[in-house]
Amino acid sequence: MPLVLHDTLTRSKRVFEPRDEKRVTLYVCGPTVYDFAHIGNARPPVVFDVLVRLLRRRYGAGHVVYARNVTDVDDKINAKAAKEGVPIGEITARYEAAYLEDMTRLNVAPPDIAPHVTDHMDAIVAQIGAILDHGCAYAAEGHVLFDVSAYQAYGALSGRNLDDMIAGARVEVAPYKKNPHDFVLWKPSKPGEPEWPSPWGPGRPGWHIECSAMIEQVLGLPIDIHGGGIDLAFPHHENEIAQGVCAHGHAHGERPQDEYARYWMHNGFLTLDAEKMSKSLGNVLLLHDLVQAIPGEVVRWALLSAHYRQPLDWTQSLLEQSKKNLDKLYGLLDRTQHIPSRRLHPDEHEATDPTQPLLDDLNTPGAIARIFAYAREIETLLAKQPREVADAAIADAKARLLELANLLGVLQSDPAEWLKGDVSDALAAEVEALIQQRAAARAEKNWAEADRIRDRLAELNVEVMDGAEGARWRLRS
Ligand code: AMP
Ligand code: ZN
Repeated sequence: MPLVLHDTLTRSKRVFEPRDEKRVTLYVCGPTVYDFAHIGNARPPVVFDVLVRLLRRRYGAGHVVYARNVTDVDDKINAKAAKEGVPIGEITARYEAAYLEDMTRLNVAPPDIAPHVTDHMDAIVAQIGAILDHGCAYAAEGHVLFDVSAYQAYGALSGRNLDDMIAGARVEVAPYKKNPHDFVLWKPSKPGEPEWPSPWGPGRPGWHIECSAMIEQVLGLPIDIHGGGIDLAFPHHENEIAQGVCAHGHAHGERPQDEYARYWMHNGFLTLDAEKMSKSLGNVLLLHDLVQAIPGEVVRWALLSAHYRQPLDWTQSLLEQSKKNLDKLYGLLDRTQHIPSRRLHPDEHEATDPTQPLLDDLNTPGAIARIFAYAREIETLLAKQPREVADAAIADAKARLLELANLLGVLQSDPAEWLKGDVSDALAAEVEALIQQRAAARAEKNWAEADRIRDRLAELNVEVMDGAEGARWRLRS
């Protein structure tokens, strides 16, 4: 079954065919590490984590190279460092560490490569030099600017043409610019700000060139898939294409944009209670706070509950519903703990591939619906006779359910642990102690004591399940 992805550049769904099946390349624009990430910033890493899981399953784990950068040179970082009176490295290290901690809680696997701008300054300067050599940029007053008129396909990704853009220009006009849409490749740093040497004077790169230079250096051009939030399509990705193509002088080919990235994927925006998240409006939900307060899987489930290209409105009821769904599925996994899931034979996949919704442009709501279809099937089978036949069918349905869950990166916890989730440490300690005392009382045939403990556990709303490997417990729902 083919994998189909929506490509922003052609505005259509296309069958995904990597350039080299042994080395599928993917780049996603990562965080600018000047502050904690907000919940909207979590959508791209989670969505593309699902894509990477799917690609690894399809092409083999070692045949996918995923790069997600860290933007550690940026005006906002400089401003924060100046405000706190510390070097930028202190700011970027602090917020990168927080970001990685959040990603772990969301079950987002680390990318294969996490390039940092500060480690790739030579490549950035070299790419700017190459663009100048090909006549697509000019140096003026310590700046190097990309000359948008030199790249005929400018606007192809975002569907804007240069004349319209100029008419509606809201970009910075500067005396050294030939055209208001020309954008910065290199600029002098302000006094006190960090700077790096270059043939055009000391300074720092523009944001767009950081990504295109790192992509070329760590993955090589063209890459298969480039991803990010829809707000990045213009100008960030439009400019990346212009730079990546013009650094190699291919600006006048038939489809020059193919020289840079072959598929473009953009996630839709997340709103908070139907409003745009905005610091100035004071409605920003920090991911870091959220994943300390509730399980990361609940956040991840909520993020995947809408199709990635659709807008997603973040509400309390979305979180409650996500938690309920996970509780239900964990409950089912807990009740069927004694039935191991069966390894599916590859041939069986062809007939009823559980991952089919994801192959259709990463249809995560479809995948979630299918998980619940397997869950209903298991529920029905639990009441069926004869048990051996029903259990074999459960093992099968469970394997499919879990395969899909693994691709979504959910249901990754131990069911019994999850179901204990809301229990305080003090209560858990008391319950564990009571269960041990009960075992001791039973061993001594002290039935009165065993009954007393059973009643105490019932008071605590605890259900104990005795099994071959000892007693497990959970709170009654
Ligand atoms: P930034 O750190 O601002 O460069 O953003 C990191 C990533 O988060 C980019 O891919 C943005 O497109 C994405 N992003 C920012 N805000 C939102 C939002 N409200 N909803 C979805 N994605 C977002
Ligand atoms: Zn980027």
